[in-house]
Amino acid sequence: MLKIAIQKSGRLHDQSLQLLKECGIELNNGNRQLKATAADFPLEAYFLRDDDIPQYVFDKVADVGIVGENVLYETGKEIDIVNKLGFGRCRLSVAVPGSMKYEGIKDLDGLKIATSYSTLLQKFLDDNKVKAEIHEISGSVEIAPGIGLAHAICDLVSSGSTLFTNGLKEVEVILNSEAVLAANKNLLQEERKILDNLLLRINAVKAAKKNKYIMMNAPDYQLKNICALLPGMKSPTIVPLAESGWSSIQSVVNENDFWDVIEKLKGFEAEGILVVPIEKMIS
Ligand code: ATP
Ligand code: ZN
Repeated sequence: MLKIAIQKSGRLHDQSLQLLKECGIELNNGNRQLKATAADFPLEAYFLRDDDIPQYVFDKVADVGIVGENVLYETGKEIDIVNKLGFGRCRLSVAVPGSMKYEGIKDLDGLKIATSYSTLLQKFLDDNKVKAEIHEISGSVEIAPGIGLAHAICDLVSSGSTLFTNGLKEVEVILNSEAVLAANKNLLQEERKILDNLLLRINAVKAAKKNKYIMMNAPDYQLKNICALLPGMKSPTIVPLAESGWSSIQSVVNENDFWDVIEKLKGFEAEGILVVPIEKMIS
């Protein structure tokens, strides 16, 4: 059995459960229980506050946990990041009032900065040889300058709309963060095996999201050009069409190159291009 810690409620909760579901692991947390067991995978979930997850994994109350890098680095717990999960993206930034003149880090000298991330902020200030006073608060950091509690703030930002609403501007990014799967350093052999199996599934889900399956028809004299463009997982599949001189080509394309590839395929006379999502991709 592998024990996994998941945020009880909040920004990472739904996506953590969704990821496990896409891995074929259903956890029933219908009644907001503290614990749930998967029906078809040796996994037991504990639902906790995100701030507590690194400690629980460090103490091996849970073997692994899903938590934001920001929380992990703030607590400084020695646990291993085993996979970056690609959701819960945000950045830890310093923001100052929109009206403040800001030319560089040195302008933070002597200011009072409100934050819930005093460890990461202190390290950033030290690294940049800035002397500022840190005022630690646990929530609603963005209102601190408006009520005269601090001159600036250091908080998590995603779109920046909260800062904007509060008349603040983002001036320094301290950390880029996303949700990660982190593991205790001393897993037993059996737990390690289950984790490896879980990682295989997570990577299959992530790869599938990043790639599309693509099918098209093209004249045979363009096959060489098209094959050079479409590496596929090994190489593209080519099937002759009933109409001579034509073939059907099937392959996998990474979403980053997608539009670029489509444009070039059109140039190589490909037609009837079909693009379909991939559910799982196991290399
Ligand atoms: P808990 O009750 O578990 O302590 P919380 O209020 O501390 O929850 P949430 O606001 O649910 O935490 O955020 C959880 C994580 O989501 C953050 O630690 C961060 O990694 C990530 N996150 C992504 N975008 C944002 C954002 N715009 N603001 C805050 N957190 C974000
Ligand atoms: Zn929290």
